[in-house]
Amino acid sequence: MRIVVKVGTSTLTHNTGRINIRRVESLCRVLSDLKNAGNEVILVSSGAIGMGVGKLMLSKKPDDIPTKQAAAAVGQCELMYVYDEEFSKYNHNVAQILITGNDVENPQNLLNFQNTVNRLLEFGVLPVINENDTVSTDEIAIGDNDALGAIVASHIGADRLIILSDIDGLYNKDPSVYPDAVLIEEVSEITPEITLMGGGKGSSLGTGGMRTKLHAAQIAMDAGVEMIIANGRNPEILYDISDGKKVGTRFAAAR
Ligand code: ADP
Repeated sequence: MRIVVKVGTSTLTHNTGRINIRRVESLCRVLSDLKNAGNEVILVSSGAIGMGVGKLMLSKKPDDIPTKQAAAAVGQCELMYVYDEEFSKYNHNVAQILITGNDVENPQNLLNFQNTVNRLLEFGVLPVINENDTVSTDEIAIGDNDALGAIVASHIGADRLIILSDIDGLYNKDPSVYPDAVLIEEVSEITPEITLMGGGKGSSLGTGGMRTKLHAAQIAMDAGVEMIIANGRNPEILYDISDGKKVGTRFAAAR
């Protein structure tokens, strides 16, 4: 299977912004094992700004663009260093791919992107993809990594997109506000009712909340890619998904 896994900042870092070492070690071990089992794995990783904030010891996540981009530039290095080190333990090579909206909208750029990813996968490399935050502006930015994951998955013919978050899946209302919220296990269509469920925004370090995940689900489903939102707290959940167990929220591919 060709699997795109997207991890959010809230999964990769502690509330301090510094890397959650145990989590990242576990994630890289499981992804390596899924590769060893014959799957092709592409990682869409957030966390650059969060890690930059930690490394630069900024007191909070910056609001202004130059500081955000500076934090992203510092954090992206740290992120790739960590991935390279972790995947090396299991003899897997990683490659960094940074893209913006232009790169998937311009047909020539898109073709180059697809060719590069395919060649990396042929080489057995694990591509790690992120938005190129240091150059992206509102006009060209994809804007959030949930959408980035879905766009990547749809353009490279992935079989499945897995979004690891700090929550078990889509609930019928925001569980951080309503303790009686109920997990939705299966979504076959993004109806207006489903869209309403994901109304609020997410955690302080994450950016998306459920709204961006539902948008991502729509992109994936339209492209014939199934999407699963699952809790990244324990990355071994990826084994359960691989084994076909019912986990989190599954959005069925439209075709
Ligand atoms: P990530 O960094 O993994 O992208 P986010 O923090 O951006 O994660 O998004 C997940 C958060 O979205 C949850 O922790 C939750 O507080 C919030 N949320 C809002 N509405 C819902 C909902 N209907 N179901 C689940 N989570 C929701």
